[in-house]
Amino acid sequence: MRILKTLFDKNRQWSENVKKSDPGFFEALAKQQNPEYLWIGCSDSRVPANQIIDLQPGEIFVHRNIANVVVHTDLNCLSVIQYAVEVLKVKHIIVCGHYGCGGIMAAMEDHDHGLIDNWLRNIRDVYRFHEQRLQALPGDRERFDALCELNVVEQVNNICQTTIVQGAWRAGQELAVHGWIYNLSDGILKDLDVCITNLDELSATQR
Ligand code: ZN
Repeated sequence: MRILKTLFDKNRQWSENVKKSDPGFFEALAKQQNPEYLWIGCSDSRVPANQIIDLQPGEIFVHRNIANVVVHTDLNCLSVIQYAVEVLKVKHIIVCGHYGCGGIMAAMEDHDHGLIDNWLRNIRDVYRFHEQRLQALPGDRERFDALCELNVVEQVNNICQTTIVQGAWRAGQELAVHGWIYNLSDGILKDLDVCITNLDELSATQR
């Protein structure tokens, strides 16, 4: 009970399997990481970054929180973005939301959830920005799906507004910010087609 033996057993087995298929794997990875991607996704256990895009350790830098939110006062998330952009020089930042997100669902409900309501406030703001469009949809199911998507689009915009990303673009660094959404029921990702790769593209979206 205290040492969660099954997890340690699984870890040993995994390590053995990796070493069998690629004997130098861990030695090479221990020296450095060189990921091309930063993933900002939901903490939901059903949306594990590496597995759903089939990448190995070392290939993607990951930050996850409830409902994949990027807030300008969140030093944790901003530090991840800064390290990824300035030190690791990732070429792509991917915000990946998912349909059926419990955080988005909770933000749409009227009742109290305690402390987490402070975090969900950010999603309620997204709802408020797009209230007309969301209210015009035929039902709650459509509103829920649409808010899952709109939340991703807002977070892409929030990332593009950070001093970190703007500084990288001004310095001519190659960096694209993408918005994706994942479908829990078939394991398929959809590109929301909101990719921004420089300051001109960003200002075009603000018009
Ligand atoms: Zn979620």
